Amino acid sequence: MLLRPSSPAPWSSGLGPKHPCAKCGTDTPGIAIGGLCPSCSRLLERRASKIARLVAIGTTVPLAVYVALSLPVERTARVVGAASVLLWYTLTFVIAKRVTMEWLR
Ligand SMILES: [Zn+2]
Repeated sequence: MLLRPSSPAPWSSGLGPKHPCAKCGTDTPGIAIGGLCPSCSRLLERRASKIARLVAIGTTVPLAVYVALSLPVERTARVVGAASVLLWYTLTFVIAKRVTMEWLR
């Protein structure tokens, strides 16, 4: 009876094939072709968040002004207005971040 090697073959170590990072070119196991290594994607996400925040604020401020001017000075209306402004900010931020990340890579 032959002894089988207990350690797996080097190419099946669980990390998958290596691909170079699309940005810095570092061979990174487990990323897709054209993908980014962890440090590049973190950097990209930080930059995208920054731009997305600016976009979100830039569109939310006029909306907030409009809501503040157009809604009656009634408590319920104010709360609804503030909630929709907050929702708008969140949505714009999420969408802008996704678009920016596609655009930056
Ligand atoms: Zn990289």
